[in-house]
Amino acid sequence: MQINQAFLDGKGSVQIAEELKEEGIPGWNRESKWRASTIERMLENEKYKGDVLMQKTYTVDFLTRKRMKNEGELPMYLIEDNHPAIIERDTWEAVQLEKERRIAFVEGTGSKKMTFNGDDYVFFGKVICGHCGSAFGRRTWHANDPNARRHVWLCKNRYVKGEKRCRVKNHHVNDLDLAPAFMQALKELLNQNNIKKWTEAKEQADPLLNYKLDQFIELAKSHQELSDYQPELVRRFLERIVVEDKQTLRFHFLDGSVVEMKANRYAEGWKNRIK
Ligand SMILES: [Zn+2]
Repeated sequence: MQINQAFLDGKGSVQIAEELKEEGIPGWNRESKWRASTIERMLENEKYKGDVLMQKTYTVDFLTRKRMKNEGELPMYLIEDNHPAIIERDTWEAVQLEKERRIAFVEGTGSKKMTFNGDDYVFFGKVICGHCGSAFGRRTWHANDPNARRHVWLCKNRYVKGEKRCRVKNHHVNDLDLAPAFMQALKELLNQNNIKKWTEAKEQADPLLNYKLDQFIELAKSHQELSDYQPELVRRFLERIVVEDKQTLRFHFLDGSVVEMKANRYAEGWKNRIK
């Protein structure tokens, strides 16, 4: 796993640490005990390239690139500090900008945090009330009745703190709508043929936007393969979903684009609003 990249692709330090543990990748002391705070320090460290590799083989001679099977000569966890493979300046800067972006986002929306561990939680903290700007929370309705039980998203200001904070009514979104609506919005964005626009925008972009634009371009180029919903796509491309009303969701993407989707009751699904 490349830690800087995993972070820039939307994962948080808790999830990165969990995944390293699950993969059994040993740390300094050869035990696979990864903490979120360790990951955070690694992300801050300008000199650290962020490579955590399963060292199945290792390079004996960096000039000839001769590789040997690792029989325990090297720890399975490698920091490539024995040759000048310092993290690229741009990547490091992009990571710091992404950290600042997440802090500002959380402060602006009253979300607890921006990244949650696990694919079921990719929308957490990113669904925002179009009325008051607060984060939505996910609640379970009819928890005791298996037939009627469902998850819905509600404005926390309205439903936790009360009407004085947000006066919007009947403003909930069905949890099951989020992923399909997101995929429709992403496809709509890719259909806009933005590759030229994104390529031009790279000239003025800071290192974070530059990294993101490259990902949008890459996705657009391979967009035929985009079919099923994947949580990775949310982490990588979505900035926020603004709930305008029960049937209108505005998807803000990390390239700065906004795609508005309307629930289409008659066709079971979502379509972008034709203006
Ligand atoms: Zn609200």
